[in-house]
Amino acid sequence: DVLVAGDVFLDLVFAGVDGVPRPGTEVRARDFGIAPGGIANQAIASRRLGLSVSMCSAIGDDAAGSWCREILSNEGVDLSFVVAAAQTSATASLAVEGDRAMVTWDAPRPADSAAPFRDLGDPKSIILYLDGREIGGDEMRTAITRGAKVFADVAWDAGETWRRDTLEALAGCHAFLPNAVEAMAYTGTEDPHRALSVLAETIPVAVVTQGAAGAIAVDSLTGESAAVAGVPVRAVDTTGAGDVFVSGFVAATEWGLSLRDRLELASLAAALSTTRVTGSLSAPTLDDIAAWRRA
Ligand code: ADP
Repeated sequence: DVLVAGDVFLDLVFAGVDGVPRPGTEVRARDFGIAPGGIANQAIASRRLGLSVSMCSAIGDDAAGSWCREILSNEGVDLSFVVAAAQTSATASLAVEGDRAMVTWDAPRPADSAAPFRDLGDPKSIILYLDGREIGGDEMRTAITRGAKVFADVAWDAGETWRRDTLEALAGCHAFLPNAVEAMAYTGTEDPHRALSVLAETIPVAVVTQGAAGAIAVDSLTGESAAVAGVPVRAVDTTGAGDVFVSGFVAATEWGLSLRDRLELASLAAALSTTRVTGSLSAPTLDDIAAWRRA
């Protein structure tokens, strides 16, 4: 069982954009998708990998929020621990030649959106999606004391706002899975391998994802280290790739796989998700993964 905790966004994804618009100009997208994003990415991706998923979040009491709830519930995500916020946060994501630019709207949260989190049962794994405001905060401390494996993932821009001293708070997590840009900013290093070594000094399972180049990881609990190359796919939109990666890693951890096999499943799930627009609704099912392996 997996509990996902963090913010849900409504993602508007514009793929195949020639550049970022400057004031007074317009750019056209070749493809477009709309989907629940943020922690909804990990929720839906984990469900599609066969895990049972509950969500702890605040979702807006508006049209966007109702739509996100409907999609999540159709995917089989348990929403009993979701509280109502006035509005749903939103992201416009522009996929520009393999990279992306984003505009986000962080809706104000209810005073204590983490409250239901304290009453939950005993999930095997908890996925925490954090931004600079939450590190070492209530949700994280409560999660760590639950006895479940806590997998922490960070928001896209968190590297800029995070400080090294928060590594101590993260050390109580089972695993931390930032992308290379975040990992380097966070550890004050200029090389993903160096960033991984610094993270591995304090965090039991440290993973650094490197986009199309794959991922590297150290599991200090088993003494394994592993690296996988990116899976060659025709990527149209990398929104949520890191989130799908986390879900793959969590699923493979629950199945008791080796570090290398955990990285392989995570990379394959993430790579397949880049072949279609949006993060959550492009997440592959177990059947999609089996079909890729047979081909
Ligand atoms: P984030 O999405 O959090 O910024 P990354 O860009 O590192 O993180 O992507 C996460 C993972 O998604 C990578 O480790 C890789 O497995 C997969 N991935 C991302 N982009 C591609 C791509 N263009 N081709 C294949 N796999 C990709």
